[in-house]
Amino acid sequence: MRTIVTVSLGVLLAVLLTLPVSVNAQQNESSIDQKVNNLLNKMTLQEKVGQMMQITIDQFVENSDGPPFHMDKAKLRKGIVDYHLGSILNVPSSTPLTRQNWHEVISDIQDVAMKETRLGIPVIYGIDAIHGENYTAGATLFPQEIGLAATFNRDLVENLAEISAYETKASSIPWNFSPVLGLGRDPRWPRFWETFGEDPYLASQMSHQMIKGYEGDDISDPYHVAACAKHYLGYSVPNSGQDRTPAWIPERQLRELFLPSFKAAFEEGVHTVMVNSGEINGVPVHASHRILTDLLKDEIGFKGFVVSDWQDIMYLHDRYHLAKTQKEAVKIAINAGIDMSMVPNSFKFADYLVELAQDGEVPMSRINDAVRRILKVKYELGLFEQPVPDFDQYPKFGSDEFVQKAYQAAEESITLLKNSNDVLPLDKEVNVLVTGPNANSMRTLNGGWSYSWQGDLSDKYAADKQTILEAIQQKLGANHVQYVDGVRYKEDAPYYADEIHNLDKAVKTAKNVDYIILAAGENSYTETPGDLTDMTISSNQIQLAKALAKTGKPVILVLNEGRPRIISDFEGDMDAVLQSYLPSNEGGRALADILFGDVNPSGKLPYTYPRYPNKLINYNHKYTEELPFQENPNGSDFWPQYEFGDGLSYTTFSYSDLRLSKQKISSREPVDVSVTVKNTGERAGKESVLLFLSDEYASITPPVKELKGFQKVNLKPGKSQTVHFQLKPEDLSFIGLDNKPVIEAGTFKVTVKDLQQAFEVTDTREINR
Ligand code: BGC
Repeated sequence: MRTIVTVSLGVLLAVLLTLPVSVNAQQNESSIDQKVNNLLNKMTLQEKVGQMMQITIDQFVENSDGPPFHMDKAKLRKGIVDYHLGSILNVPSSTPLTRQNWHEVISDIQDVAMKETRLGIPVIYGIDAIHGENYTAGATLFPQEIGLAATFNRDLVENLAEISAYETKASSIPWNFSPVLGLGRDPRWPRFWETFGEDPYLASQMSHQMIKGYEGDDISDPYHVAACAKHYLGYSVPNSGQDRTPAWIPERQLRELFLPSFKAAFEEGVHTVMVNSGEINGVPVHASHRILTDLLKDEIGFKGFVVSDWQDIMYLHDRYHLAKTQKEAVKIAINAGIDMSMVPNSFKFADYLVELAQDGEVPMSRINDAVRRILKVKYELGLFEQPVPDFDQYPKFGSDEFVQKAYQAAEESITLLKNSNDVLPLDKEVNVLVTGPNANSMRTLNGGWSYSWQGDLSDKYAADKQTILEAIQQKLGANHVQYVDGVRYKEDAPYYADEIHNLDKAVKTAKNVDYIILAAGENSYTETPGDLTDMTISSNQIQLAKALAKTGKPVILVLNEGRPRIISDFEGDMDAVLQSYLPSNEGGRALADILFGDVNPSGKLPYTYPRYPNKLINYNHKYTEELPFQENPNGSDFWPQYEFGDGLSYTTFSYSDLRLSKQKISSREPVDVSVTVKNTGERAGKESVLLFLSDEYASITPPVKELKGFQKVNLKPGKSQTVHFQLKPEDLSFIGLDNKPVIEAGTFKVTVKDLQQAFEVTDTREINR
């Protein structure tokens, strides 16, 4: 009896405690809906259409020779007062602003919007802060997404997104066009490094964390922003490997591979979505009612707003030859479900849409729906109450605390792929030659979307940060470090072009040192300018690597590249290989710490590193992609340079006791999995434990294995830890013949490192996931 009373009191208390919160949340939601409706009722057609338009800031600046930049009030009035403009984006002249300058610019914009228009609707300003607030001088930049994926560290990724949100708001900007949630499954694609790599599970997990970090619980607080899940959907696998060219993706694959990372963002409540600039199965996604309305808004129930990508509505006419006129392009895109057009250079969009609405070609219900969604996000961001954040509220901007997190991310991402005879870590008493086109460049460490669109200003704006060379000099003392580049990047586009520069001198110098550190890879690039004609690393860099190897001195290859450029021609001659991805401003330091043993590397490859340009096979391939291949001494067609999940440590880990809670389950039950990991070496180390699942036989040919769980552990020498996972029913499912998720009866195998256990599922069932 007593127990019962206690329980009921407990329950009552819990109800009382939770009730006000949920009622509040609901009240808040409905009061925002009410405000949106009240405002919408007062708006003219022109005012509504203006809200659906986004223009680049270059159209409104007085001077193009900044920073500082000043707004041209007359131009602003034309946009905001005459055209009722709802949104502005980007950075003027592709140059970073100071925080102070951002504050002035955004204040000027909001002053016109709120004080000089009839309804006083604030502008929503958007920016690509994709690895930190990369368009504000002095902001904390962290590794690009591909490196974040290699950390396999969920909490860290969330922390970094929080920092990014903080510094974006500190720059007076409330909306971030990040994260990229496409999958890096085709290494030819120039936006590969903007992704979390090739695996849908890893990308989905990081998607959750990143949205959580950006948006927090409440996007109206001073330290969070509205995120933008992009580029919805299926952008990353154009058939040609060139940016913004056609993709052919069957419905099943679209749902199996490319939807989950976006669904994770929707579950996390992401407020905005940006559309894929490309076409799928002959239909540009900007024109696809099926993908934008049927799938996104109706089936998934997305409640935020959908923004187009740069100029893509007009491109339905100009590039795609789908619409006969630009006006028809606007009609198709808005009717397909786009809510806001990133126009971005003219006001024609508004003129066309007003005419289309007046002629009944775009229903008012569609326009009202779009505007409702946009206004709702503006209210949720608190822009009506506080259109510009308080400048003094951000003491941590660019702080050591934030920089330390960026350093941790660089350190945890860098991946040791080869270490013959334990050549690494190097002793600090040695003499080294540092060489290669990436050795002394902040530009290559940062990659694109850094201070400018193409990332070509990093050496100026990150001059106080250390390149790989500078960090090694600091570690060893300048007397012990020789530097000769051997190959250098050309000044202009194409950004992958390099040339021989002092190669003979590099080889000569190599003869007098103990070790050679060759920093090779790519120069910075973003989007289409990064399209490749050959994914092999440049012939000049191959020549340099081979000439250095011939000296007989051990060569440590540091890769600093956005995508895996083929290195098979000389990889066998390298004694060690480290993949640094695009580790950003703290990357030089982190690399030097790893090279000389102050830090034990723990990154793992979030993609398959191909050995040949014609064998671009992902790790979760089909069995038929493992046929005998004569060049492979082990006999299989799947023979990449390095595999997904590869990554060495300076210590060793042993895995034991892989256990399953059950050997037989129904399709409704979960399976608990545990495994013990032990640090069997002599140094402390972090290890990402990866769990793969294989469905042995299925009505859709199954992949050989799929990642379904990961956890990172930190172990002192001799210590062990048991790691627990749970496989839920949806983890066992796949998209079946009728394009719905299904679990089929049969045998499943769990693989962790070299351990394997099997279990049976007794029934077949369609599920929701
Ligand atoms: C890119 C987007 C970006 C937008 C705004 C486009 O070219 O594809 O990822 O958010 O520009 O800068």
